[in-house]
Amino acid sequence: MHDPYSAAGLRYDTMHYRRSGRSGLKLPLIALGLWHNFGGVDRLENGRAMMRRAFDLGINHFDLANNYGPPPGSAEESFGQIFRHDFRPYRDELIISTKAGYAMWPGPYGEWGSRKYLIASLDQSLRRMGLDYVDIFYHHRPDPDTPLEETMSALDQVVRQGKALYVGISNYDAEETRRAARILRELGTPCLINQVVYNMFDRWVEPALLDTAAAEGVGLIFFSPLAQGLLTNRYLDGMPSDSRALKSGVFLRPEHITESALARIRQLNVIAQARGQTLAQMALAWVLRHPAATAALIGTSSVQQVEDCAAAVRKLDFSAEELAAINTALAE
Ligand code: NDP
Repeated sequence: MHDPYSAAGLRYDTMHYRRSGRSGLKLPLIALGLWHNFGGVDRLENGRAMMRRAFDLGINHFDLANNYGPPPGSAEESFGQIFRHDFRPYRDELIISTKAGYAMWPGPYGEWGSRKYLIASLDQSLRRMGLDYVDIFYHHRPDPDTPLEETMSALDQVVRQGKALYVGISNYDAEETRRAARILRELGTPCLINQVVYNMFDRWVEPALLDTAAAEGVGLIFFSPLAQGLLTNRYLDGMPSDSRALKSGVFLRPEHITESALARIRQLNVIAQARGQTLAQMALAWVLRHPAATAALIGTSSVQQVEDCAAAVRKLDFSAEELAAINTALAE
């Protein structure tokens, strides 16, 4: 069994918070995602320890989705168990987000972006997590077949029902973001944020989405800022036996850790060391350097990784020389 939890008194002393777009909501620069390591197959006590440490360090934003696990739905159930025991007294200090968009149940209403799917999925998520409402409800991926007006109106509906306080979109490109933001504005429920992948190895948001989000007043939260662990010291001395890349059913594969990727990672690590940071910390500061950036959304497999990432906020600024050196390392 685990001890009762009492959050650290100094939990807001070191983390920084940024306003999401033109909303009133401030989010911590580092958010913790529960995509991996919180499923039914994982050790709940490790998840609990990571969430406790995160919150003690001012990371008050936990990100989920209906399908996180494995099996799908189990990360929300794990979160619910931890929340009930540890975090209920802190509900008003927490930002809890979930999403719907990927396959969740059989039949035509189990994925994509219809009102039928989104409303049912959020109800299921709230039951699994044991919550009355989430802080942010996202549409997880654009749906090429459903009219965007229907999907956005479903997001507006959940806010009016009191099941979500804010709504967001995920994996929407610049043009899709512009359209979604316009529709939501007209409905009276502004788009809080777009959640997209961004890291040194995947720069697709530059510059169109960065510019559009700023112009529309939509925040940006960047997922996989560490390229699923590549942009850390994890692979510098070979493949660790507990790496995500060796687990089944995940996106990072051993074959992604190529010699040429490793050569770049080693060079980036030298630049990070010269800045007095770990590579993970530099990778986080790097995605946060844009004025349009709201937050970086990490995953972790240990308490030590939570601590390392949280300390990224100690040094966020870059000199022009450092940015140029990073670009040179990435171009090799
Ligand atoms: P990251 O790029 O942060 O990768 C996380 C992995 O990096 C960890 O599992 C760990 O690998 C390693 N790592 C983390 N911190 C450190 C550290 N300090 N030192 C060394 N290694 C470290 O992000 P994820 O890909 O996990 O994505 C983060 C979150 O983003 C998800 O949980 C989810 O909430 C969200 N997401 C959203 C998507 C969307 O479509 N909207 C898609 C994907 C993610 P290891 O496990 O090997 O130790």
